[in-house]
Amino acid sequence: MLGMMMHRPLMISDILTYAAEAHPKAEIVSARTEGDIHRQTYPETLARVSQLAHALQGHGVRLGDRVATLAWNGYRHVELYYAISGVGGVCHTINPRLSAEQLIYIVNHAEDKLLFTDTTFVPVLEAVKDELPKDMVYVIMTDRDHMPENSLNALCYEELLTGQPESFDWPLLDENTASGLCYTSGTTGHPKGALYSHRSTVLHALLVTSVMGCTLPEGSGVLPVVPLFHVNAWGLPYTAPILGLNMVMPGPALDGPSLYKLMNDEKVHSAWGVPTVWMGLLAEIEAQGKKPEGFADVVVGGSAAPRSMIEAFEKMGVEVGHAWGMTEMSPIGTHGVMPTWVKELPFDQMIDKKALQGRRVFGVELKIVDDHGNRQPHDGKAIGELYVRGNTIVGGYFNNAEASEKAIDSEGWFGTGDIASIDPSGFLSIQDRSKDLIKSGGEWISSIDLENAAMSHPAIANCAAIAMPHPKWDERPVLIAVPSGDERPSLADIHEHMSEHFAKWQLPDDVIWVEALPMTATGKTSKLTLRQQFADYKLP
Ligand code: ADP
Repeated sequence: MLGMMMHRPLMISDILTYAAEAHPKAEIVSARTEGDIHRQTYPETLARVSQLAHALQGHGVRLGDRVATLAWNGYRHVELYYAISGVGGVCHTINPRLSAEQLIYIVNHAEDKLLFTDTTFVPVLEAVKDELPKDMVYVIMTDRDHMPENSLNALCYEELLTGQPESFDWPLLDENTASGLCYTSGTTGHPKGALYSHRSTVLHALLVTSVMGCTLPEGSGVLPVVPLFHVNAWGLPYTAPILGLNMVMPGPALDGPSLYKLMNDEKVHSAWGVPTVWMGLLAEIEAQGKKPEGFADVVVGGSAAPRSMIEAFEKMGVEVGHAWGMTEMSPIGTHGVMPTWVKELPFDQMIDKKALQGRRVFGVELKIVDDHGNRQPHDGKAIGELYVRGNTIVGGYFNNAEASEKAIDSEGWFGTGDIASIDPSGFLSIQDRSKDLIKSGGEWISSIDLENAAMSHPAIANCAAIAMPHPKWDERPVLIAVPSGDERPSLADIHEHMSEHFAKWQLPDDVIWVEALPMTATGKTSKLTLRQQFADYKLP
């Protein structure tokens, strides 16, 4: 017997119409490329999104059409998220840090019809436009006064909206209709497209609010430093309107001093981003001698949050939520909101728990398997490849049958490529990407653990542990480190600092000092580039 309840499709447009009614005073505050701070409420946003939706239809956008964005975090980018999906199109966010070759590949692979760009990226597009579809319509996201000279024959965003009606009859589509497209940065091979749906996007927003909503009080400010061009800024453009948060958008300036000023001026309560941006902010907090006013919560993910970083935030009264996920998961898989029994632990033990990658959100299942695909116990000891399953996880890749076939196992789980353990209280511990694990004499060494221990050395600002080939042991770990000042401690000194956490054979064989670590397009240390850079390196 079936239940007798109404069935309404889950629609992204419902999020914004809800926010406009339920949270009419909450705002999107944006540091604009024009150089000023812009503010607009959710009702004002809904009116402009309606205008944009009419304009998109006027330019021929129909069900399933891909419309690309190449833009920073700002209100116009959020408007595009809602207007494109609202008319049944697919919002394809492009990461501007991709190489020209990757950009050309994904725009052609996605078959984008229109491309919306911030003024910043006009030169990037001009350089590659001959390799992009000839009939592409470009729109520059600014007003007439700020339109740059360009060879794209581009339209002006604000002119597109002018004169359009301020309401729109949002269609009720099949909830499985595609709504967003995000390509993984693809360290090997071509980038692969995760194609989100209205259903997966709304469910993701609801699942995230159900576990993280308690850290985000209505009316407070949330700052997505994580870009809208990288996995939908971890879903914040959808969760924030539901919760009635002010979304504070940093625009292009993501350095410590700029973030500090914006957070202080706007009294940001919670900020979300990858560890590298928090290093810049922490340095500025130290220089200022105090944290930004109102700053109480930080969500760290994208790569492992170093223990020393978690400690630094917690000591100044900023709660750290260490989350894990990936593009293929919309992206949040685990969250770092602590259960009461952990909050009651002594400080050091509580930090130990926060250094783990949190617990799964409702609706995302986790399993770890050995090399033969056998499920491993969640005992905190067994280590294996991490697989995930749920309604917010890809079932394949956009127009890529080969990658789709490899993505899902025979029981319908998605292989993350991460190596992990799960403890009996449900905490996930990511040991490594499978391709970054260091295998010495048949035993695994976690590069994340090595980096965490080394980073707590006061002379080390940042570091990466990578495997170097060894004739006897197969591979040995080497630390590539960025100094925090003039001091270059010896390998023996670093060993002494790390020895508490490791057996002797696990410690790095060498330390190499560098000015900076290479970054991927998503702001993570690029170990692939490091391995290439040190291909001729010989172990001492
Ligand atoms: P990319 O496009 O670089 O693949 P993703 O955000 O999809 O970007 O990357 C997902 C991967 O990032 C995960 O599979 C995992 O290896 C890593 N990652 C994400 N969050 C964490 C975390 N908290 N700790 C360790 N690794 C993480």
